Amino acid sequence: MKTETKTQEWFLRDPRTRKWIRQCAACGQYGRDPGTPDDIPKINFEDMFPVMELDVRGLCQICAPRFK
Ligand SMILES: [Zn+2]
Repeated sequence: MKTETKTQEWFLRDPRTRKWIRQCAACGQYGRDPGTPDDIPKINFEDMFPVMELDVRGLCQICAPRFK
């Protein structure tokens, strides 16, 4: 029996969640916008896409210090 799991790809294909997904320009990690509203289809979404703050260059908090 095949279990239907919602993957990162599933969320990237869904325009309702895709618009809140952020990707770091350096490491390619995905995360979600800190302002993601509550009314999105978010089963597993918050687990798969932790809040990611990108700076003006599109870098996550881990990468930003490496590119000063
Ligand atoms: Zn990064």
